[in-house]
Amino acid sequence: MKEIILLKCGELVLKGQNRNSFEDAMIKNTRRRLEPLGKFHIWKSQSTVYVEPLTEGISMEEAVARLQTVFGIAALCPALVVPKDWAAICAAAPDYLAEDLAGAKTFKVNAKRSDKAFPMKSPEICRELGGLLLSRFPHLKVDVEDPDVLVTVEVREKDAYVHKRQLPGAGGIPVGTGGKAALLLSGGIDSPVAGYMMAKRGLELIAVHFASPPYTSERARQKVISLGEKLLPYTGRIKLFIVPFTQLQEQLRDRCPEEYFTLLMRRAMMRIAETIALREGCQGLITGESVGQVASQTIQALGVTDCVTTLPVLRPAIGMDKSEIVAIARRIDTFETSILPYEDCCTVFTPRHPRTRPKPEETAKIEAEANLDPALLHQAAENAELLILSNRYSGMR
Ligand code: ATP
Ligand code: MG
Repeated sequence: MKEIILLKCGELVLKGQNRNSFEDAMIKNTRRRLEPLGKFHIWKSQSTVYVEPLTEGISMEEAVARLQTVFGIAALCPALVVPKDWAAICAAAPDYLAEDLAGAKTFKVNAKRSDKAFPMKSPEICRELGGLLLSRFPHLKVDVEDPDVLVTVEVREKDAYVHKRQLPGAGGIPVGTGGKAALLLSGGIDSPVAGYMMAKRGLELIAVHFASPPYTSERARQKVISLGEKLLPYTGRIKLFIVPFTQLQEQLRDRCPEEYFTLLMRRAMMRIAETIALREGCQGLITGESVGQVASQTIQALGVTDCVTTLPVLRPAIGMDKSEIVAIARRIDTFETSILPYEDCCTVFTPRHPRTRPKPEETAKIEAEANLDPALLHQAAENAELLILSNRYSGMR
């Protein structure tokens, strides 16, 4: 018994002339995602992509699980490959569909016949197979309007396919088709979710993390690496830059008014992230900020951090409640790692009364008075340590 998986492209279909390049990107990402499992033949026909395993013993369950994290796939459908012979279809279909049909009350058969030489026409296929399934599963009724299970039989050039129940895909747009952006990745809950959300909109990610040893620990650093790795099923390979931030933070602590510490620190983060982003060919920055969540995330504070970079700062969590962000973090399995209680550089030297309504000119003036060593910004970007996060060679999902 041979199974294949059909992929439905969803939103890609809306992309007019770009549709082909979007589909090709989705296929490329699909290939990468499946590569560790073995060899596959992947091809497209009309708006469906067909994934056929070539290596013996590939777990189709594992393949489906992997494909459910590939953006650009709206839905997946495992299907049984049967010889193009009516007796063979009737012999195989009931057993293959037994699990789907046992839990259903109603069903409908749908036939697609691209091989017009097949001796039965579509209505006849529907009628005959419908009758057979009713006799095998007497609890079922036919509902042509809104069936619980839609059974599709496809007769193609070489073989026939019996489709199983459709499964949800990750949706979105294929990673890489929307450009590239640098995610400011902390060890918190919000920034991994922000990265996931922007990858879903087709962006390739690099990640930038600011570390301040010895104020922040090796465990905190490992936590950020783990969070980056958790995103890999969705994003593919991520270059993670770990920026040495200690000296800058110490200089800020020593030279600026306490209430401005966080704001000036965030401006420094933006500048360093921008330098790395431009060097890496990114067109934007991504953060996990949400209006009102903390003092540094008032609209005024966001304005004061935005104005130091010319790149667009994407904040997909900007209008979300914490509970909404947490729901996504749980779904993409970053939550449990995010809540490990290790310190982040943002919690080092935190002011007791941070400015919540800073003005851009005033902030710039205070920053100038602090007279930070410009070489420190430059060095931080230069000396960032690069780690390549990739799941290609590991057994990781
Ligand atoms: P998160 O849960 O992602 O840490 P948060 O609610 O804790 O966010 P902040 O600590 O104020 O908020 O940080 C806001 C954003 O700034 C983060 O979402 C992240 O994009 C960025 N950020 C904070 N700390 C760091 C860091 N150490 N390295 C890189 N980016 C950071
Ligand atoms: Mg944080």
